[in-house]
Amino acid sequence: MVTPARTATAGDPRAIILRAGEPSLSLPTFEQEDEIHMALTGELFIGRARRSTPRRFQAIDPARGGPIEPAFSAAGAEELDAACALAHAAFDPYRSLPPARRAEFLDAIAAQILAQGEDLLQRAHAETALPLARLEGERARTVGQLRLFAAELRSGAWLGLRVDPALPERQPLPRPDLRQRKIPCGPVAVFGASNFPLAFSVAGGDSAAALAAGCPIVVKGHPAHPGTSEWVARAIVAAAAATEMPEGVFSLLNGPDVALGTALVADPRIRAVAFTGSRAAGVALMKVAAGRPEPIAVFAEMSSVNPVILLPAALASRAGSLAKEFVASLTLGVGQFCTNPGIVVALEGEGLSTFIDAAAEALRAVQPGVMLSEGIHRNYTQGLERLAGEGAQLLAQGAADGAGNCARAALFSVPAGSLLAHPALAEEAFGPASLVVRCAHVREAQQVIERLEGQLTATLQMEEADQPLARQLLPALERKAGRILINSWPTGVEVCHAMVHGGPFPATSDGRSTSVGTLAIERFLRPVCYQGFPDALLPAELRAAQLPRWPHRFDGELRLGRPD
Ligand code: NAP
Repeated sequence: MVTPARTATAGDPRAIILRAGEPSLSLPTFEQEDEIHMALTGELFIGRARRSTPRRFQAIDPARGGPIEPAFSAAGAEELDAACALAHAAFDPYRSLPPARRAEFLDAIAAQILAQGEDLLQRAHAETALPLARLEGERARTVGQLRLFAAELRSGAWLGLRVDPALPERQPLPRPDLRQRKIPCGPVAVFGASNFPLAFSVAGGDSAAALAAGCPIVVKGHPAHPGTSEWVARAIVAAAAATEMPEGVFSLLNGPDVALGTALVADPRIRAVAFTGSRAAGVALMKVAAGRPEPIAVFAEMSSVNPVILLPAALASRAGSLAKEFVASLTLGVGQFCTNPGIVVALEGEGLSTFIDAAAEALRAVQPGVMLSEGIHRNYTQGLERLAGEGAQLLAQGAADGAGNCARAALFSVPAGSLLAHPALAEEAFGPASLVVRCAHVREAQQVIERLEGQLTATLQMEEADQPLARQLLPALERKAGRILINSWPTGVEVCHAMVHGGPFPATSDGRSTSVGTLAIERFLRPVCYQGFPDALLPAELRAAQLPRWPHRFDGELRLGRPD
């Protein structure tokens, strides 16, 4: 249960309580309001209703410090219960809609987000200090994700239809008619991520995948950008009204402490969890989910240092340009990407020395950048101290820290033996810091790779002459990472059908899935088999009249669908 009173912790600058003791207030429904550009209200979104609560908090300006208006309601037990009850009630009506109707809903969300124009971008900029150009790109990605899932819904590939027709004459036993499809798992709790206020927040990839699957969502907004969350929530609610979705398909709960997220994951009406953030929080939520009387799956994307392995011929031929590209990838977005290249592995030699010198020079010229929040900046500073404390040598730092939450890029180095003796050196320091691991020989490089935890990505920088070594390393890299890149950089994740943004723990809690790309829908689906059903009782897409239009396997044979 959520504790009724705000549990503000000392030094938690995000959480400001304005007043307490006021009664909860239900406001009019949303549908008739034309409020695309109306000022933010700070209310919670419980299905179609808006609700205020006496517990309030405010976003904190990451660049200048100090609260940003307005104050936002923090959800308590009552709001959580109302949102989960609505999501539970919406599940059957929502999942029963034809896929094309859900696709319309996703397309409408995309259109509503675009209609908000500069209002959304300016608020996201104020709350995150991310540059407007970056946010514009992130909005395009968000809209693109929603549209991609809409197209996926219409294709029907995700339905996973299989038919094994009855074989009444089969000896020694007849076979009954068996048909399979995938159904959604139920309401999903989605946690907004701080580092993607649009693409991995209220209407981000997890939300798009869950809504596409047929799951109502209850979003726990990230407390660092509640205004951005409100803008996007308005877009979803307006789209739900315009496309006549059942009430409860979407709710947004905000709160500045962990009790809300914990209670949301513990609620028996929630059937899966999607999360992007810290390892500590992801693991805490996994424990809550596993400790429920009926445990549920948590798809948490947490921590990755994304090793980049510089192979000898690549270093010999282009160490200088590799160094510049590496520093650009490392410092992009003040290093606040889950795919940030936090470890470089290479063999000692002239090529590596050239790379290190050039990388140090490029890094020294990098200006400090404002991080997303005071907490993330504090964690970054502690991460640098941990690396130094574990014996990493500081090779170079970016230009001196600016005020507030400005982070200075940092490049460290260790001999491979140190990393093998102190595995904590390979833990993520979220931000623009990386560690070059110098290996005396190939065997040592292999040991370093083996010592690494699960990763979202692993990158090989190589030339043709490096192929034998690359072939040697690939089996271990496949075991470690969800995506393996050759001659590019891990930051920048294409949203498409073939993408895997996942990987073994702690990159994610479940390396069998991805949180980016259309395959992400699979996380919220499960197969059901229908045996001996008369046609009239089968789900529509498995009936004789509809089956030919969807892709399916018929008696094992793959058949393409023929859309109307
Ligand atoms: P976070 O601390 O993991 O918080 C993410 C969300 O989880 C917030 O809504 C937070 O709610 C909630 N939460 C945190 N601890 C919880 C717990 N024990 N139980 C239930 N819910 C919990 O992430 P953050 O605030 O974005 O940044 C903190 C650190 O996370 C960063 O410094 C970085 O190290 C890491 N991070 C990593 C990635 C990545 O992609 N690898 C991305 C973002 C952040 P409250 O804030 O209300 O507690």
